[in-house]
Amino acid sequence: MLAKDTEGRAPDRRRSRPAVAVLLVFAVLTLAAPASADPFGVGGSSTGWLADNHDHDYCWSTNFTWTSLQNIADDAMDYLESSTDFSGGSHQSCNSGTDVYFQRFNTTAYRGQYQCDDRNGNECDNADVRISSNTSTLPSSERAKTTCHEVGHSAGATHHSSGYGCMVSGTSTVETYWAHTRNHMDDLEVATS
Ligand SMILES: [Zn+2]
Repeated sequence: MLAKDTEGRAPDRRRSRPAVAVLLVFAVLTLAAPASADPFGVGGSSTGWLADNHDHDYCWSTNFTWTSLQNIADDAMDYLESSTDFSGGSHQSCNSGTDVYFQRFNTTAYRGQYQCDDRNGNECDNADVRISSNTSTLPSSERAKTTCHEVGHSAGATHHSSGYGCMVSGTSTVETYWAHTRNHMDDLEVATS
């Protein structure tokens, strides 16, 4: 895209300025690039499968009865919709077409977990997002990070190192997506690097 934009620009007397601007943008992109590869929608140990569309419906499984957990799940879905092209998703009774099943699990080993239960190629029709009962005792920002992270997997996102949003593994209070991750979510296309 940068190259196309530069080619399309009519030469003028300020020709050197765009060149400087392009160099600066390139430098910023280089600095912002995560240390790891950036796959999207390809599954595996650190990446979610691709959502089937931008309509991301969700439901509470029978054990997801704690209001404290329901509230942060609602917030995470609202945030996904307000910050990306995901929209139109709604809270509903669980059925075979629901995209995200929220579940509570009783473990201290993980705060959250994502798993696709019904997959067609790279597209996931039903994903489980499990939130540990243990998170109810955490500071709210750490809980929000966990739901942001697992919902991010359900939208196809992969792990990033610290400083690139809530897709970092482990303890964090960052409850937002990195802009690059949001671009992937908006594109809704498989990316392998
Ligand atoms: Zn993860």
